[in-house]
Amino acid sequence: MSLRLFNTLTRAVEPFAPLAPPKVTLYTCGPTVWNYAHIGNFRTFVFEDVLRRWLEFSGFDVAHVMNITDVDDRTINAANAGGVTLPEHTARYLQAFREDCSYLRLEPASRYPRATEHVAAMIALVERLLARGVAYKGDDGSVYFAIARFPAYGRLSRIDTREIKVGARVSSDEYAKEDARDFVLWKGVKPEDEQAGAAWDAPFGRGRPGWHLECSAMSQQYLGETIDLHAGGVDLIFPHHEDEIAQSEAATGRPFVRTWLHGEFLLVEGTKMSKRYGNFLTLRDLREEGKDPAALRFLFAGTQYRRQLNFTDAALEAAHAGTQRLAELRARLAAPGAAGGGAPLAPLGQRLVAEFTEAMDDDLDTPRALAALMEYARAANAALDAGGLGAEDAGAALDTFDRVAGVLQVVGTSRVLSVGTGVATPRTLGAASAPAPLGPPAPGEAPDAWAAAVAEARRAARMAKDWPRADLARRLLAEQGYEIRDNPDGTATLLRKRPPTAT
Ligand SMILES: [Zn+2]
Repeated sequence: MSLRLFNTLTRAVEPFAPLAPPKVTLYTCGPTVWNYAHIGNFRTFVFEDVLRRWLEFSGFDVAHVMNITDVDDRTINAANAGGVTLPEHTARYLQAFREDCSYLRLEPASRYPRATEHVAAMIALVERLLARGVAYKGDDGSVYFAIARFPAYGRLSRIDTREIKVGARVSSDEYAKEDARDFVLWKGVKPEDEQAGAAWDAPFGRGRPGWHLECSAMSQQYLGETIDLHAGGVDLIFPHHEDEIAQSEAATGRPFVRTWLHGEFLLVEGTKMSKRYGNFLTLRDLREEGKDPAALRFLFAGTQYRRQLNFTDAALEAAHAGTQRLAELRARLAAPGAAGGGAPLAPLGQRLVAEFTEAMDDDLDTPRALAALMEYARAANAALDAGGLGAEDAGAALDTFDRVAGVLQVVGTSRVLSVGTGVATPRTLGAASAPAPLGPPAPGEAPDAWAAAVAEARRAARMAKDWPRADLARRLLAEQGYEIRDNPDGTATLLRKRPPTAT
């Protein structure tokens, strides 16, 4: 069996067959850099990253383009509200997006074309559509796409085309299916566009591109007229992707995309994320809380991309514990002390690759793939407990583990620690010079958070060869029911031996 994917266009799981293997062309709709991207956006970007890594694991050579929307209704409104120009406003959020991507271990795309740097290609596309008679100039100075002239309109989102009102127009970038009508390709200039520095001259009048037009033009420029895969969130099916198809296919007369993939929504604590409910969460928030990005990726992998995912703090903590178990196994496999006379790991590794592959090939069934990885961790730990490995076998085992876990990027990074069933963030990580006095938990202090901080203080003390302080930390932990074990790579594992005493 090889890779099968659910194609939104046909609503069926189909064998994946790129046009010119081993090459695969992949276009993913990137961020609109008007504000910080939220974790729902990043759930989609992680799904696309896992797709890309799985294709590469499977031997494909992926050309991946992710656009940056740096001109649209929202970016212009935000720039004007902040009293800055469009480039000044978007530069800040583009930089934030880059930092978020590297924090979340997203493999960089082959290209990140920016809309404002491709306006000439967009103007050329509008001219082509005007010449073909599928676009027309409205009396408001904008250019519209006539959906009645494109019979395939509505095929992706399956709207009822009998309901379409001929000649009715919509000029905003975002609108609902009930408002399916002629959509804007090029927006005639308005004073607020000039104010933000977001207007360009074109043969059909000064103005700016519509959001949908941007992706059609950039996709064609870098990946050609027909591409293998196009991915995004389900909220993009209508109107964004429907309109991309109309523009591209009406201009070229060829199929635009062979397989459409869409990732489902992310809920926070059971409700749709919104500023109003106070559950609007950016990736930046998690980063500032010191969360391990591997934990977020582990949490995401626990739900297949076509299902809604419910993000909760408890789920993130459970995911963190999982990433630490994987980090501990990796440290054991990498340790020189792994050599010994135990059972070989090769059969376990072969089973891992087979099960992981079967799950990922089944429309990216990441929950099943993750389960195979955790089962491998359990079995490999048991083999190591039973006497270690030959040095050569440990090297091969580490290589297999890294290759497979690398697809999901779920191995924990933080220096310390899994704490029994719970998880704590080491508060003193990277703390400066004068060490704080060590003592039992303060009244009301969460025991696991306290223990993590003390364990981190112990690690710092050992590095500074302050043995009395390191001993004191170990003693304090033992008094509260925690045991600390040193790993060969300098990290430490913290275990809770009994329920914490209330303070
Ligand atoms: Zn797009």
